[in-house]
Amino acid sequence: MNNEEIVLEIKDLYKGFGERNVLNGLDFTLHKGEVVVIIGPSGCGKSTLLRCINGLEKIDGGDVILEGSSIYDKNIKMRQVRQKVGIVFQSYDLFSHMTVMENILLGPLKVQKRDKQEVSELARELLKKVGLSDRENDYPRQLSGGQKQRIAIVRSLCMNPDIVLFDEVTAALDPEMVREVLDVILDLAKQGLTMIIVTHEMHFARAVSDRILFMDHGKIVEEGEPEDLFGNPKTERAKQFLNKFD
Ligand code: ADP
Ligand code: MG
Repeated sequence: MNNEEIVLEIKDLYKGFGERNVLNGLDFTLHKGEVVVIIGPSGCGKSTLLRCINGLEKIDGGDVILEGSSIYDKNIKMRQVRQKVGIVFQSYDLFSHMTVMENILLGPLKVQKRDKQEVSELARELLKKVGLSDRENDYPRQLSGGQKQRIAIVRSLCMNPDIVLFDEVTAALDPEMVREVLDVILDLAKQGLTMIIVTHEMHFARAVSDRILFMDHGKIVEEGEPEDLFGNPKTERAKQFLNKFD
């Protein structure tokens, strides 16, 4: 994996809110085609980290280097960063007055000014892949939570991102809908999409990841291949955290 092209480098990243330090000198590197899962206790800064990577937060120190350029350089347009880095949240944030297809096409047509025919074809292909071919004219209220989340993933992929970030995308779903969403992400991993996934689904984390990062108090405390980190965690903090999931 280390011979692969580096797509993202986080260097000594600091971020706080007021008096509270949330990210405390965090480093890590992501390679093209790599699937990294971040685990760690609630409040340790996982969502804040993803938001910093996507340019949604101002940072206090360090750097986020995407494909060789700092995303915090004043000459970089955030709009370009957000097109390269897709993010899918726990709340799918679909527009309720728009159909599935209209939701999906919004970014590619309005922001990226791409060809409608071309994007619609891509959208239909992706809808088929996630098992929702027959839903393009539905409104979000006609869909289950799991279906809405799969649509949100399709919407993100239609922007042709280089990296996709997933922030606890199954946390708000009823248990029976979790699997259908995780299966979509597993499929994307197999296809070689570069991803950072924050999840509390430990079996899924183990199955999907090339590398696991255990985060606590705004730092990467331990990282390793899934078999090593789950099978034989080195730090006491990772051990304690993982014990809760047995
Ligand atoms: P995680 O995703 O690991 O649960 P978060 O990154 O959401 O953690 O939050 C880390 C810490 O930062 C928490 O203490 C949270 O309350 C705080 N925090 C996150 N976002 C904000 C914000 N916009 N304003 C103030 N505090 C925030
Ligand atoms: Mg979070």
